[in-house]
Amino acid sequence: PNSHFFYLPRICNHCTNPACLAACPRKAIFKRPEDGVVLVDLKRCEGNRMCIAGCPYKKVYFNTQLFKTEKCIFCFPRLEKGLPPACAEQCVGRIRFVGSLDDAASQVYKLVHHYKVALPLHPEYGTQPNVYYVPPLSGPPRFDKSGKPIAGSERIPTQYLESLFGPSVREALKTLRGE
Ligand code: SF4
Repeated sequence: PNSHFFYLPRICNHCTNPACLAACPRKAIFKRPEDGVVLVDLKRCEGNRMCIAGCPYKKVYFNTQLFKTEKCIFCFPRLEKGLPPACAEQCVGRIRFVGSLDDAASQVYKLVHHYKVALPLHPEYGTQPNVYYVPPLSGPPRFDKSGKPIAGSERIPTQYLESLFGPSVREALKTLRGE
């Protein structure tokens, strides 16, 4: 009766300090200076797969047909035309905002820096990920042994959310509940 769930869509974080890039002995992974997108240069990739081992988020995949690694390209051909990535544009729930954290007027800046309700996943990995999540609110309270709701209880353990998003999740949840 006290089960819980929430969705956590996981894409490449296009990290500021990408572990995949650091792990590649061929220097086949690079981060574009103009927009921060992290890409694999397929001409240089020899399929060593050190990037797969190196990425703590497990966001690099091995293409057994090409014998090369592949990853999310953040739809850079769309970005170059001023369009958002397809995942953001096609999401029927409009859950994704894409923008620059250098732009104080953008939604991402407000969610991350102003309201502080969007947090990186596993910040302790040290790669400085650039995907931020608004943590889930807990839904109905937990039930006691007799099936009665326990007032003020949290269905999704905050400790668990803390293990995903770090200690700032407590303050973010407080702000979200307040709203
Ligand atoms: Fe590289 Fe993994 Fe960061 Fe993506 S999430 S940039 S694959 S280290």
